[in-house]
Amino acid sequence: MQMSSGMAWISDSTGERIWFNESWLTFRGCSIDRERNSGWTLGVHVTFRDRLLEVITAAVATKSSYCVRYSVLQNDGTYKEISEQAVPLLTNSGDLVGHAGTCLVLSTEKASDPSSALFACEDSWREGIWCIDMNGNTTFVNSALARMLLCTREEMFGISFLAYMDEEQRPDAMKHLAARIAGSYVTHEFQFKKKNGETLWAVVTPIPLLNSESAVIGFKATVIDISDRVKTEERLREEDLRKNQFISMLAHELRNPLAPIRNAARIIRLQPGLSDDVIQAREIIERETHKMSRYLDDLLDIARISSGRMELKLELTDLTICIQRAIESVSNDLTAHSHILDVSGCEKPLYLRIDPIRIEQVLINLLSNSIKYSRFHGCIRIAMESDAEWVCVEVRDSGIGIAPDFMPHLFDMYARAQQPSSRDVAGSGVGLPLARKLIELHGGSIEARSAGLGHGSAFTFRLPIQLGEAG
Ligand code: ADP
Repeated sequence: MQMSSGMAWISDSTGERIWFNESWLTFRGCSIDRERNSGWTLGVHVTFRDRLLEVITAAVATKSSYCVRYSVLQNDGTYKEISEQAVPLLTNSGDLVGHAGTCLVLSTEKASDPSSALFACEDSWREGIWCIDMNGNTTFVNSALARMLLCTREEMFGISFLAYMDEEQRPDAMKHLAARIAGSYVTHEFQFKKKNGETLWAVVTPIPLLNSESAVIGFKATVIDISDRVKTEERLREEDLRKNQFISMLAHELRNPLAPIRNAARIIRLQPGLSDDVIQAREIIERETHKMSRYLDDLLDIARISSGRMELKLELTDLTICIQRAIESVSNDLTAHSHILDVSGCEKPLYLRIDPIRIEQVLINLLSNSIKYSRFHGCIRIAMESDAEWVCVEVRDSGIGIAPDFMPHLFDMYARAQQPSSRDVAGSGVGLPLARKLIELHGGSIEARSAGLGHGSAFTFRLPIQLGEAG
């Protein structure tokens, strides 16, 4: 986009242009006598002429400013696209003396075919264009914008942009206008109201409209209709809610039979003189029901957190005891995989206001993953460090590691890495998102690091030492 060197004109109170500056005359290659009154309109491309004259007539009638785009013939016989801004000239008593206009040449390409590129101007954009003056009154809209609101361009002209929204949106809209007047131009999402009462969801990107002295005389916004996207998001949210309700119902139903199965295994355990086969079978039942009830509990917790029903039972707790309990919970698995466990930084008690069951659950999830995703005889390290404000617990393993492309999805619900070494291990993809949510509920954060596949992984969570009033 190139700026012309200050093309300008002045019109009288009827809208007739009575003066053009040298830049305009040079650009057009015409004398002032030829241009005066309606002469200049002969240079306006026929596609734009009627609309332009309507805009001018309306601006004269409402004594308002306007901003339009049109194509006009240059002295070399080609049409150029022009952006024109005009402000009303008023007497002290508010009578219209005329308008003063400035123009920018927007395209410098020569186009031999006037029906092609030259006319691909804002009026034919799919995005809406909405220009308002400093009071918020519409000075220009393109056809796309008018279509979005089910209005005609003519009926929108001179009307405040506030008229195209519900009452409750107006304070927000006024705030945006005030921000623009203060020089802040931020893209934002907004709800407008269509003529038929439906909502138009839009992304609005404002820029200032300047006169030849670079003073702001209004604002121009590109308006993109995102109603379909918003509706799709709403539908997805509803589907997600239904899916979570279904999963939580399923987890409940699946958990119920586990208690009698575990009881049955306990009764078998009490029988004297069992053969090795039966003992082995009983151990399998105990181990697998234990794992299954953990998965189901995780699923139920996720559903609780998603619906805001998770409540932490905060109490002053020695974090080293939580670590110790988590280790005890996974000790059978550790031994079964012949992993070595190294614990550091847990020599002295460290008291925090936390929900011990939940923090233990996080530790169990991280430790179980380290055990699952390490080959036999792996090395797992738990390290605790603290300063005045935070305590960090790291669970590091020498296992299969995490591919860089999976890293961004690691904490997503139901996400599981696709490489065979990971896929072959049973899992639900719920442990890490749950761990993150539980840590966040405690005001902390969790992150993962890995130098890539085959290079092990490290998960670190941080908890604030002062949990203060929480809970
Ligand atoms: P699950 O282990 O039940 O699949 P998680 O949410 O705990 O679910 O973990 C998600 C995925 O992250 C796992 O499927 C695995 O691909 C990867 N992952 C988690 N922990 C580790 C780890 N310590 N080493 C390698 N990959 C891991």
